[in-house]
Amino acid sequence: MQGRKEATIGILALQGAFAEHQIALQNKVDIVLVRTVEDLEKCDALIIPGGESTTIALLARLAGLLEPLRTFLKKKPVWGTCAGAILLSQAVENAKKGGQELLGGFSVTTARNGWGSQIESFEAPLLVDGLRDPNRSFMGVFIRAPVVLSLNPSPHDSPIEIVARLPAGLLPQSQRVVMPDEDDTDPRDPKTIVAMRQGNHFLTTFHPELTKDDRFHEYFVQKCVLPSLK
Ligand code: GLN
Repeated sequence: MQGRKEATIGILALQGAFAEHQIALQNKVDIVLVRTVEDLEKCDALIIPGGESTTIALLARLAGLLEPLRTFLKKKPVWGTCAGAILLSQAVENAKKGGQELLGGFSVTTARNGWGSQIESFEAPLLVDGLRDPNRSFMGVFIRAPVVLSLNPSPHDSPIEIVARLPAGLLPQSQRVVMPDEDDTDPRDPKTIVAMRQGNHFLTTFHPELTKDDRFHEYFVQKCVLPSLK
């Protein structure tokens, strides 16, 4: 990635893995840790980190950030990782009892903690065509990750581009659709989708910021942020 700082990227810093995103982006772009509406106004794009979606939403409400974030999403690129991906979802299943607030912006339905309670965390190597050095796999770290249930773009929405899938054979046992022969698992099952782009928005159900590999950060800057500034 180039050393010139061509963009200012905000990282929502209310709760969760915001410091790790900051490290991954350091020296590549200007960074603002977003805790107030004034912070958000300085940003060309935003990352919503992993953490706990219900807590992030509650703190965003207390900071008066929920509506400004929804407005921001209508104009500028946003990347949600894990809890951030839940917040960007249009609808979520297995939401916290009593419901939970979402920002929306991405035409997808996800299931919170969708890999089931017994398998809460796992790592899986992902082969991703859109990344630099695509033959080198990217280690996906999934921690109480959401699962993609369906894509629901309306004719007016930007189309959704699938950026990365979990190989069907690596789906956690609880999510295999065809049993018992895993070779029969449908590779087009939406549950295999772990990274996707819709217009300038980007969603990963795993945590690229928890690895030393910066290729997903580079992808967001190159494919979502810089084109939006032209
Ligand atoms: N399960 C968490 C939630 O509901 C997300 C976990 C994560 O971000 N690692 O927000």
